[in-house]
Amino acid sequence: MLTGKSALVTGASRGIGRAIALELAAQGAKVAVNYSGSEAKAQAVVEEIQASGGEAIKIKADVSNSEDVQAMIKEVVDTFGGLELLVNNAGITKDNLLMRMKEEDFDSVIDTNLKGVFLTTKGVTRQMMRQKFGRIVNVSSIVGVSGNPGQANYVAAKSGVIGLTKSNAKELAAKNIRVNAVAPGYIATAMTEELTEEQKEQMLSMVPLSRLGSGEDVARVVRFLLSDDSDYMTGQTLHVDGGMVM
Ligand code: NAD
Repeated sequence: MLTGKSALVTGASRGIGRAIALELAAQGAKVAVNYSGSEAKAQAVVEEIQASGGEAIKIKADVSNSEDVQAMIKEVVDTFGGLELLVNNAGITKDNLLMRMKEEDFDSVIDTNLKGVFLTTKGVTRQMMRQKFGRIVNVSSIVGVSGNPGQANYVAAKSGVIGLTKSNAKELAAKNIRVNAVAPGYIATAMTEELTEEQKEQMLSMVPLSRLGSGEDVARVVRFLLSDDSDYMTGQTLHVDGGMVM
């Protein structure tokens, strides 16, 4: 479905990003696995793709740092000869109640989760315009739609990602660059492992499909939004949340 396309997935060493990288590779894409933390985990994703006959590289870069982002995009284009698919997945949480939230924790979540999407999208735009082809999927969150106590920084960033998706979709449509987003609900990854048992039970009680999502649940929808099957869609945010927010 994505044979021959070159893809960059940010924050792809684990969790949802890892599942997306594996899914895109399984559909024939050459995948750049961006990471900022564990090199060993990124290398494991690359090796898993290569073991299945796919093509992959790993690139260390902090998505909130514009120099890192520019160097990363150059490396992808130099290695794969183009860059057709971008998935802005990297994200962090630094939760706290509003009155206790430190200014630096607000800033760092906005920097990674929102400015990071701006920087990578800006960075790939020239290349995608030159190709007259680009497909971008941003990973927002269902709380960016509905709000959530204790996550003012995260919700502001993820709402911002939905706004950025719409704005970029309108601006880039004429250049055959589609921009969409997914809003995952409660997905079982290291990020959600940090929640208390009480928080997990409370969240699960709000999921009509009565189960946690998996990285693969999200990855399949991302693959759809990157493929020709969604050719008449841009600026949309698809909820992948078991029906939590309707
Ligand atoms: P995770 O913590 O397992 O993975 C996040 C990845 O992003 C890690 O590989 C991390 O190294 C990377 N990353 C963090 N900061 C980075 C930076 N500055 N530069 C580059 N990479 C960076 O989390 P996850 O659950 O897999 O989340 C992936 C995305 O999905 C995030 O954007 C998250 O906000 C979003 N999301 C997750 C859930 C969930 O329930 N897990 C729900 C909704 C949205």
